[in-house]
Amino acid sequence: MQLKSIEIVGFKSFAEKTKIDFPTGLTGIVGPNGSGKSNIAESIRWVLGEQSAKTLRGTKMFDVIFSGSADRKSQNMASVTLTLDNADNYIQSALPEIKVARKLFRNGDSSYFLNEKECRLKDIVNLFMDSGIGQGSLSIISQGNIDAILNSTSEERRTIIESVAGIYKYKQQKMTAQKE
Ligand code: ATP
Ligand code: MG
Repeated sequence: MQLKSIEIVGFKSFAEKTKIDFPTGLTGIVGPNGSGKSNIAESIRWVLGEQSAKTLRGTKMFDVIFSGSADRKSQNMASVTLTLDNADNYIQSALPEIKVARKLFRNGDSSYFLNEKECRLKDIVNLFMDSGIGQGSLSIISQGNIDAILNSTSEERRTIIESVAGIYKYKQQKMTAQKE
């Protein structure tokens, strides 16, 4: 499985349509402070279904839409499309190439797409479940996360290790079952 490209329009500092290709190997993104490096990582979290405004360094869901700058007016829509090469079927599905897209309009309309067909957030969450790259996964470590991990209690650290090892999900299921 490989991240092939990402297309961002109207998301955070990306006012204009921006396509970033990720060739094979390691890709480094460099730029001055405030140039949008973290926003790229956040766009990946967002398109995979991140719902928390806090994780996306905002206070409201609409904070992800480009809010205008000195020389550009604000946008009415944020859209992110992620293309993954899944020829090795790492993400168990019949799709050799997976295109995931999310759109959010200022009027509140929101939609998700899987290979250009509208779908539910649940479909995306299910597709990436257990792949280690879905919602809330630790495959993206944001600035500040390292400090949070180093300063966490042993209990919190245990949760992190369990979730990376794939055990946490079962604990959650057990807790839900015990409550029922
Ligand atoms: P650093 O090197 O300091 O970590 P960075 O390259 O990671 O910087 P980001 O945090 O990705 O930078 O980008 C921050 C910029 O994004 C800020 O200038 C901020 O104003 C801009 N920004 C964030 N949300 C929006 C938005 N909704 N509309 C317009 N600009 C936004
Ligand atoms: Mg940053």
